[in-house]
This record gives sequence, C-alpha cells and structure tokens, in this order.
Amino acid sequence: MTAVKNTKAFAASIAGSDTSSGAGVQMDLRTMNACGVWGLTVIAALTAQNANHVTDTSPVNVGLLKSQIKAIKEDFDVGCWKTGMLCDSKIVRAVSESLPNNAKIVVDPVLISTSNYRLLDKSGQDMLCAELIPRALMVTPNLMEASAISGIKITDAESMEQAAVWFLDMGAKSVIVKGGHAHFRRGVDLYADNNGKMLLNGEVFEFSDVHGSGCCFSSAIASYIALGYPLRESVSKAKEFVCGAMKYSFEFFPERRTMNPNWQTNKDFVKRIL
Ligand code: PLP
Repeated sequence: MTAVKNTKAFAASIAGSDTSSGAGVQMDLRTMNACGVWGLTVIAALTAQNANHVTDTSPVNVGLLKSQIKAIKEDFDVGCWKTGMLCDSKIVRAVSESLPNNAKIVVDPVLISTSNYRLLDKSGQDMLCAELIPRALMVTPNLMEASAISGIKITDAESMEQAAVWFLDMGAKSVIVKGGHAHFRRGVDLYADNNGKMLLNGEVFEFSDVHGSGCCFSSAIASYIALGYPLRESVSKAKEFVCGAMKYSFEFFPERRTMNPNWQTNKDFVKRIL
C-alpha cells in the first residue's frame, strides 16, 4: 500500500480525562478543533469529577499508555504534543520514553486541581523536572505551579521573572508563567525564552478560577505551534483565544465557571424549543 503523506495540522494531548468535560483531554480536544487543528488524544489518567470537586483518579496502565502514543506516531505527523495531568512518575517516564526525540512538546505542569485535589504526586513532579521539562519547547505553569516546581516563592514581578529563568536553566526552550490572580500585575502573563521576555496583557475578569483555563491555554498554544506559527506569535494568539473562552465561559452552577472554547461559534449552549 502506498503511504499517503499527510499535510494536515495535528496536535496531540496526553492528559487526564475529566468527566465534567471542562478540563483535561475533553477541553484540550475542543480547544484544538476550535483553533483549526485536528486534535488527537492519549488518555494518561482517569478522573471522576463534577463542577465542584474531583472524587477519584487513577493512572492508566503504562503499557496501554505507550500503545496509545505508538498508535498515533504510526499514522500522524504530530506538529505539537501537549502534556497535562500525568498522575505519577511511571506515567511521566513512559511519556518521555515514548515521545520522538525531535517532538515539539508543550508541558502544562498540572499539579493540583482548582478544587485542591492532587493530580500529580511528588515523585511524578520530580520526574517531570528530570525528564520532560528539559525537553519542553514550552512550559506553561501558573504562579502556584511555578513556585512549587522551582522552589522560588513568587511574591512580585521580580520573583516571577526569577522563576521563569529557572525553567529556562532547566533546559526548557521557553516558558510562560501565567499571572492569573496575582496581586501584583494581575492577569499579566510573563513569557520568556533565550532571546528575552515578553509580557502578555489580557482582559481581567472578576470571576474566581475558571475550570479548564490552563488546559485551554496550553492546548491553544500547542495548536498554533502545530499550525506553524513561531513561539511568540503562538502564545499571543493563544492568549487572545483564551480571553474569549473566559469572557464567554459558562456558569453551569453558581460561582463555578467553565471555559467555552467554542466561543467564536456558540456563545450560549441554550436549549432551543424549535
Ligand atoms: N482534571 C483534569 C483531568 C485536568 O487535566 C485538569 C487540569 O489540567 C484539571 C482537572 C484541573 O482543572 P482546573 O484546575 O481548571 O479545575
């Protein structure tokens, strides 16, 4: 059979499944499709969760994780891989062993859910630092993750920059430390690579945490990289996309908002009586 060269843009998410569909691979896939790439998924872990809390998690069997990545590699020319919830060190190691040497990898170092459930254990966190962060084209920590991983207490713009530099020193090609709810420079993200830094400003919203915001941002970045945009353009476009998804986020339950990656085409999901 003649092999057909695929010229479409593919991005792949390696992450946890979220039953509420507001984060994890479900959010990643929606985001990738909305950003114009064909999204592929590798389930690294299962979670049981709803709008309020995570109640249970389990990593998948390591053999099955490797088979999923192998199946994708055999058929698809993946322009960018994105990692999210990886659960433990065995999964982190298996991901690192399975990804091609030249893979473009966006590492979203998911540690704890907004509802405070640990999604990567401590040895998994150490393995992430040893194996995946040094290979990352970009790492996308929020302030809490950047502090916990680097050991640098982030209290102001200066310590935020020190944490960003720490990731570059670890071998990551670029990093974006997300400002989110920072009491200093609120809502401003700090991007850095070996050519210097760039601040990303976005609309600041009054909501508290929006479920799936980190997954949506890292998947949008991975999508634009897969489409061929340079890194700085990819993060700028992703920031714009995420601001829209946050602006039109859903309040399915009072005070519990979920990102809307389909904001350009469907702003409400209201049941229509036809
Ligand atoms: N569940 C899964 C499977 C995730 O991958 C993530 C984040 O990456 C979360 C939950 C946490 O989402 P949030 O902190 O936005 O609630």
